[in-house]
Amino acid sequence: MTAISLRSISKAYGEHPPVLRDVNLDIGEHEFCVFLGPSGCGKSTLLRLIAGLEDVSAGELKIGGQRVNEVQPAARGVAMVFQSYALFPHMSVFENIAFGLRIAKVSSDEIRRRVNEAARVLQIESLLERKPRALSGGQRQRVAIGRAIVREPKAFLFDEPLSNLDATLRAQTRIEIGRLHKRFDQASSVYVTHDQVEAMTLADKIVLLR
Ligand code: ADP
Ligand code: MG
Repeated sequence: MTAISLRSISKAYGEHPPVLRDVNLDIGEHEFCVFLGPSGCGKSTLLRLIAGLEDVSAGELKIGGQRVNEVQPAARGVAMVFQSYALFPHMSVFENIAFGLRIAKVSSDEIRRRVNEAARVLQIESLLERKPRALSGGQRQRVAIGRAIVREPKAFLFDEPLSNLDATLRAQTRIEIGRLHKRFDQASSVYVTHDQVEAMTLADKIVLLR
């Protein structure tokens, strides 16, 4: 099944020439799709169009078979994992992961169930009471992914999630993200990078941008 479909998608910022022109792409259910290309070629733009953080200039975007061009980011059923982890420093790991669900008025029991499940998948159960400052970079990255997992999205969107990590941790976390993806039942992953090794090791499908 197709999870995300782009038809004749174009994007221009203001009066500038288009950054993306007539993009056609299908991303399958549970597929790991990597956008690969040099800095400035439009990878983040393409990901942000899917997330709904930017509006498309032309074309049709579907997620789970539904047209989402006019749908708000929060209602698209996708979750973005940002490069800067943007964790709340005064909140525990548990509360950081739970935050979006509290805003969405999910019940406390359901929040506890989902946070504990995400913590189990990410192997951060012993860190739930800590504050972000007491975590390593890799652990913070996992908390950021935990926030996305608890929303139970149809797709995870990663924008260069490893670029703030040192080389050793980058390699480890890359392997973890690959394993994590395999544990998702149906969710797709869309992953932006300029690193060919990351692309080759993670991807079911590589989309090259110039
Ligand atoms: P990448 O993620 O591949 O490095 P981006 O999608 O961030 O590339 O950017 C693609 C092009 O679009 C660049 O030339 C960039 O300067 C331009 N661009 C990105 N965001 C904006 C914006 N908000 N306003 C105007 N131009 C932008
Ligand atoms: Mg980018």
